[in-house]
Amino acid sequence: MPVETRTFSSRHFFSRHGVLSEWHPQYEFRPGQLEMAEEVERALKEKRHLIVEAGTGTGKTLAYLVPAILSGKRVVVSTGTKSLQEQLFFKDIPFLQEHIGRELRVCYMKGRGNYACRQKIYDAEKEPILTGLEEVNDFQIIRKWEQETDVGDRSEIKQLPPSSSAWAKLDARKELCSGDKCLQFERCFITKMQQRARESDLVIVNHHLFFADLAVRGEDYGGVIPEYEAVIFDEAHEIETVAGAYFGQSVSSYMVQELRRDVLAVSRRKGFGSEDLDRTLTMLDETARRFFDCFPEQEGRAGYYQQRRFLEEHNKEYIDLLHVLELTTADLKLVKDASDETMPLFRRVEEIRDRLKFWMRAEDPRFVYWIERRGPGVNLEATPIDVATLLRERLFGAVSTVIMTSATLAVAGTFDYLQNRLGIASPRTAIVSSPFDYQKQVTLYVPHHLPDPRDADFIDKAVEETKHLLDISEGRAFVLFTSYQQMRLFHERLSFRIDYPCLLQGTGPNTALLDEFRATKNCVLFATASFWQGIDVPGDQLSCVIIDRLPFAVPSDPIVDARVRAIRDSGGNPFFDYQVPEAAITLKQGFGRLIRSKADRGILAILDNRITAKRYGQIFFDSLPDYAFTLDRAELERFFRNV
Ligand code: SF4
Repeated sequence: MPVETRTFSSRHFFSRHGVLSEWHPQYEFRPGQLEMAEEVERALKEKRHLIVEAGTGTGKTLAYLVPAILSGKRVVVSTGTKSLQEQLFFKDIPFLQEHIGRELRVCYMKGRGNYACRQKIYDAEKEPILTGLEEVNDFQIIRKWEQETDVGDRSEIKQLPPSSSAWAKLDARKELCSGDKCLQFERCFITKMQQRARESDLVIVNHHLFFADLAVRGEDYGGVIPEYEAVIFDEAHEIETVAGAYFGQSVSSYMVQELRRDVLAVSRRKGFGSEDLDRTLTMLDETARRFFDCFPEQEGRAGYYQQRRFLEEHNKEYIDLLHVLELTTADLKLVKDASDETMPLFRRVEEIRDRLKFWMRAEDPRFVYWIERRGPGVNLEATPIDVATLLRERLFGAVSTVIMTSATLAVAGTFDYLQNRLGIASPRTAIVSSPFDYQKQVTLYVPHHLPDPRDADFIDKAVEETKHLLDISEGRAFVLFTSYQQMRLFHERLSFRIDYPCLLQGTGPNTALLDEFRATKNCVLFATASFWQGIDVPGDQLSCVIIDRLPFAVPSDPIVDARVRAIRDSGGNPFFDYQVPEAAITLKQGFGRLIRSKADRGILAILDNRITAKRYGQIFFDSLPDYAFTLDRAELERFFRNV
């Protein structure tokens, strides 16, 4: 029977004979869940910030959703991924809705690229913007669905391939949106999404949308999330990275190309094309190519501190590009009676020009300036070195309750590192332990006899060790690496020497690889960063996680390098204040893949003996759950024999 929400508190809900025990088919009292729910309830009531680490299996989702619903406030819940967003909205909320005695007003919001633009779909019917059979087929699917859907979220169309190029031409990204001037504005999926959010008590977003919104709040074409009294971040360990990306500035060769394409397409569709405009767009293409070609050819990310020298050598290319951008603005200004269509294009030209100037001036010492080259594309990026000041001002100082949770937030039992990095002053804190019996379920193994991973003979010996471990676990393993190069090397040397099917990251989409892993007996997956978190494989299929080395962030990465230097300059110790704690959280994430339920058992191995040989290794041990531990490989055979 549904219960009237006002009649219960979090304690009534989660306690041993509480409301949840009557509803839930597999109910099991979890003290950690109750503890967390009460902490969240108190933080919301007392308008305090809260950090709560909730070990795997605590049931943290309900532990924050229920008090958020009971609070009667508008609460934003921000998740690390879209799939967690969907799980909350389509699984957890309906479960609560079924039993709570009033209608829950909940909605989810994703970035605009996830929604269809009705206007673009109608325009595409008249204009030949689609090329090839595949795009035409995808268009038919999208067109039919657009007539039936209320929400317009592409995740509803299961048969649409993830990389559909037709979708990319029809989505609702703001770059071509004319807002309330659009004929479809009232029926627009974005308008409807915002309407639903204004009418909701609980708004489920993801970190990317949250920080994109926070970065532009208060500006003219500002945020999309309605006013809220509290925000709850799940997977809160990702906040610094995501916030850094959205408080930064970037401009790329791709952005200029896309702008050119869009101006051309809109001018043709709206009939304001001219020879002058075509000429300007051709010049835009050429000058942009000449400008971006002046940057180093090396692939990947690198810090860039030579703007002044660049301008001495390539001033012409830079000025030419600025000039053609101005010409584009001038040409768009000449368009009569088309301001609704040209306004978004106009704004984009200005934005590209401003960002380019900001990056070339490189005057703001709070940013690290870097470039990234991927094939023919060049990105010029400026990222804040320290997001703490920004977050203190715009988030913790502006919202009365910010709650952060994840299974991996504490380092050696404290939140000092997180508080420091994010700029939260005196929050409430709690560490809620997992209901799993890690001593019985897991053995952590360190092959202390291996050389230091920086030594020349490490690879040979570590490959042999991995082979032994995979034989003991009979495959059923994730072998996780800190670099692609090492991953490929291990895979090359091992895949033909072990008797189990092997998968390699990069040979297919991650989700397909994961499905194959789940469906293939005794499978071994070789993978890097993207498999260190958010992956769930309960049961015997995953019984061993091997990690090649302590996951210190690559010191040559421009953002890491800038943060290390900033800590050193302010008198801190970057290794202990930043690199070790960050690596401890990442290691905890990687190891967290193994045990997802009370029935899971398995071994964890870290091939990097610095964890036992170096003084700082203790910080890693103090940050991990209380696993059984061994230096003796024979113990692992006994462990599996006792299953
Ligand atoms: S308002 Fe913008 S996103 Fe919505 S249909 Fe119109 S152009 Fe597309």
